[in-house]
Amino acid sequence: RQEKFQKIYDLYDAAQKLYTHILLNTTAGEQALAYLKDDRQLDEDTIKRYALGYVPSNNVLLSYAREHNIDEKVLAESELFIERDGELVRDRFSNRVLWPIRNERGQVVGFSGRSLDPDNPAKYMNSPESPFFNKGKLLYNLDQAKGNIRSGQKAMIFEGFMDVISADLAGAGGAVATMGTALTPDHVAALSKLTDQITLVYDGDAAGQKAAKHSIPLIREQAPQVEIGVISLADNRDPDEVRRELGLEALKQALEQSVQTPTEYLIGAAKAGKNLSNQAQYLDFLKEVWPVLNTASPVEQDYFLKKMAEDYGSSLESLQSEFATYQQEHPA
Ligand code: ATP
Ligand code: MN
Ligand code: MN
Ligand code: MN
Repeated sequence: RQEKFQKIYDLYDAAQKLYTHILLNTTAGEQALAYLKDDRQLDEDTIKRYALGYVPSNNVLLSYAREHNIDEKVLAESELFIERDGELVRDRFSNRVLWPIRNERGQVVGFSGRSLDPDNPAKYMNSPESPFFNKGKLLYNLDQAKGNIRSGQKAMIFEGFMDVISADLAGAGGAVATMGTALTPDHVAALSKLTDQITLVYDGDAAGQKAAKHSIPLIREQAPQVEIGVISLADNRDPDEVRRELGLEALKQALEQSVQTPTEYLIGAAKAGKNLSNQAQYLDFLKEVWPVLNTASPVEQDYFLKKMAEDYGSSLESLQSEFATYQQEHPA
C-alpha cells in the first residue's frame, strides 16, 4: 500500500514536470504561455515557482505512462486520466492550464486545470476527490505559506489560486486558498495551529460576502483564540483583478491597510445596497445589525451604537433600547 502510494506520488511529480516543460518550452504550450503572461500578467519566474503547466490535447501523459510501463492500477487510481469502457483513453486535463496542488508537506497530490476558453462553463476542473485529494482538508499553498506564517507573516485565506499568487507578488507570503469549497473545521485547524491571527480576503462580490458570513462564525467556534480580520474589496473585484486592473501597489495597500474587524465588516455588509435615509430600509438594516452586535464585545457594541446614532440620526437611547430588547429575546 505504501509502495503503491509512492508510485502514485511519483506519477504526480512526473506529470507536473512534463506539463510544465510543455508550457515553457514547446509550441504546444505557446498559446497557454501567452495567456499566462499577457492576460494573467505573470512573469516566467512566477510561473516556474508555482510549477504551472499546460496539458495539450495529444495525451502526452498517457503515452509517457505506457512507455514507462507504469502499473495500470496506479494509473487508474491517480485519476489523471479519463476512462471509457474500462480503458484509460485520455489525459484528464486536456486543453487546460494546470496548477499542481501540494499538501502541507509539499507533495503534489492533485491538480486543478483552467480552461482557456472563456465560454467553457467548467472554468476550473479539479482532481476528483480521492484518498490523496480532499478539498475539505487541503489548502492551496499551505506548504509554502507555513514557514512564512511561523516567522510572523499574516495568514490570509483567499478564494482562488490566482489570488494567492497575486498576494504573494504583493509581499503577502502567508496566503492560502480554499479551492471552490467552503471553509471547513479541518482548514481552520490547519491554520490555527500556526497562528492566532487569520485574515479573510474574499472576492468583493455576493459569493465572497456569503463566504465571509460562513467563515467568521466557523472560525470563532473552532478556534476562539484566533483574532479574525476581514478585507473587503470594492467593485466586485477579486484580489487578482485588483492587481491586474489597479496595479500591484493597490493590492499591497488593500492587503496592508484595509483590514476590518468581523463586526465592522458585517455591519458594512448589512449596509450594502440599502438606502439608509429610507425608513423601511433603515429598519431592515437595524434588523441585520442586532445579531451582528450580539456576537460583538461590549466595547464594540458601545462603539457601534454610538456611531449609528451619529450617522443616522436615531437617538442613542432608542438604539440601546431596541438592542436590549433583541438581546433579551436572543441570549448569546
Ligand atoms: P479566474 O481568476 O481564473 O477567473 P477565480 O479564482 O477568480 O478564477 P472564482 O470564480 O472567483 O474564480 O472562483 C473561486 C475558486 O473557485 C477558483 O479559484 C476555483 O478554485 C473554484 N472554481 C471556480 N469555478 C469552478 C468550477 N467551475 N469548478 C470547480 N471549481 C471552480
Ligand atoms: Mn468569485
Ligand atoms: Mn475570483
Ligand atoms: Mn479571478
